[in-house]
Amino acid sequence: MTHLRDNLSHVQARIAAACLASARTVDRVQLLAVSKTFGAEDVSEVAACGQRDFGENYIQEGVEKITKLAAQTHTSALVWHCIGPIQSNKTKLVSEHFDWVHTVDRLKIAQRLNEQRPAHLPALQVCIQVNIDGGDSKSGVAPTEALALALEVAKLPRLTLRGLMTIPDPVDGFEAQVAVHNKARALFDEVRVVLNSPQFDTLSMGMTGDLEAAIHAGSTMVRVGTAIFGGRTYTG
Ligand SMILES: *Cc1c(COP(=O)(O)O)cnc(C)c1O
Repeated sequence: MTHLRDNLSHVQARIAAACLASARTVDRVQLLAVSKTFGAEDVSEVAACGQRDFGENYIQEGVEKITKLAAQTHTSALVWHCIGPIQSNKTKLVSEHFDWVHTVDRLKIAQRLNEQRPAHLPALQVCIQVNIDGGDSKSGVAPTEALALALEVAKLPRLTLRGLMTIPDPVDGFEAQVAVHNKARALFDEVRVVLNSPQFDTLSMGMTGDLEAAIHAGSTMVRVGTAIFGGRTYTG
């Protein structure tokens, strides 16, 4: 099973090339390996190649993998990111098991995560999800409301507000992709100036199909599933 190692190397090379092309230093772009629908064995293998950050969309599936892998030595220190939608009845599980949440898009969810974050764990690292292109996903706060939400979330003591996250609808062509990601970058800069917090340093955008454009526009964290783990088959 060397293909996961090869896939990971290929993605790392794409990130390095994109950074070079955009005159950015490669250590400013983090790779989040999106392992949804893949098993703990695959995560374990990618972790053995040195990958540390993993993203999960489905809470229950993620928690099962996290629990299993936490019990094994070489995967006990992985960093887990929740990148899927969170319903109110799932906030407790998320706050107890994940290190990061990228999908905070309303204050109520942030407040619940804040209240439920266990005292023995460090603050939960969060990004606000913004519906940057008004696309069909419908998740994410409207760009015009992002700053107001950020100011409220920043007050919650058991959360650390780290940045913004976007999932624009797929568009064809580098220039069109950059145009959408540039909107997110501009909003990120605007919020950062107002918050004036050194911890607000994360712009989570770019996936398998558009990571080069996202890096060009200033992404600091690309979330890559397919190019590492292969195509997904959904079973209900
Ligand atoms: C699935 C998913 C990804 C990874 O997408 P790929 O196209 O497989 O790289 C990234 N972010 C989110 C929020 C996802 O749901």
